[in-house]
Amino acid sequence: MSRFVTLMYHNLEQDPANRYSLPVEAFEQQVAWLRAEGYVIEGFPDLEVRLARGLFPERYVVMTFDDGHRSNLRAAEILSRAGAQATFFLTRDFCRYNLAFLRDDEIRQLAALCSVGSHGLTHTPLSRLDAVHAWAELAESKAWLEDITGSPVTTMSAPGGFINHTVLRQARDLGYTLVGNSVEWWNEPSTVNIERLVNRVAIWQGMPLSLFARIVRHDARYLRARRLRAGALGLARRTLPLHLYHGLSRALYRLRQALPGRQLGW
Ligand SMILES: [Zn+2]
Repeated sequence: MSRFVTLMYHNLEQDPANRYSLPVEAFEQQVAWLRAEGYVIEGFPDLEVRLARGLFPERYVVMTFDDGHRSNLRAAEILSRAGAQATFFLTRDFCRYNLAFLRDDEIRQLAALCSVGSHGLTHTPLSRLDAVHAWAELAESKAWLEDITGSPVTTMSAPGGFINHTVLRQARDLGYTLVGNSVEWWNEPSTVNIERLVNRVAIWQGMPLSLFARIVRHDARYLRARRLRAGALGLARRTLPLHLYHGLSRALYRLRQALPGRQLGW
């Protein structure tokens, strides 16, 4: 069985201040490149089927979007036209209280094109919550999305990548069968099959297509550099107060942007 990469996107709009926001054209270019190169692009439910059968195409990539920004509907339309799939992980309170995020009817449109999963109630880091509150985040966000779409929700991604064994066990107990994290590494199907955790590599704005290609082709040198950065952040994620952690994450990003030879990536 072959290793594969899962991509993590957020918004599709012009927003230079937000590294996670890609112009629509950049996303279209990436999808077109993947299709031209013969990649099969799928979401978590298709991955689940492949894990059960042990059958993976030579060129395979899993696509995910986090948070539920309104531009996600555009992404789903682009993917649908390209014969591709993705899973969109939605945060309930973003969608409920922020006009920049998907409304109920848009979530239904999204779910008709692609698959949807939970990204918590409030986007609070789950591993920082006590068991009762973590359970509520996982259970109530699932119920909310099932109520809107009328279909079972069995996948989720961890807000900010904050996940630990307790939360993972709770997720399994609640019926989540696959959980996306923010570990920037490729996936081995045999490992995902056991752990039910999917590593995901964030796609940032301004990333040249050549670098995007290295990620999709699970280039070890590049991903190792990304993993080092993620490893440092992972330690900070477990230990630092949240405001310090977010400050460190932003500082690392700015440093990466400022350094010559930044294409090697961090
Ligand atoms: Zn998020």
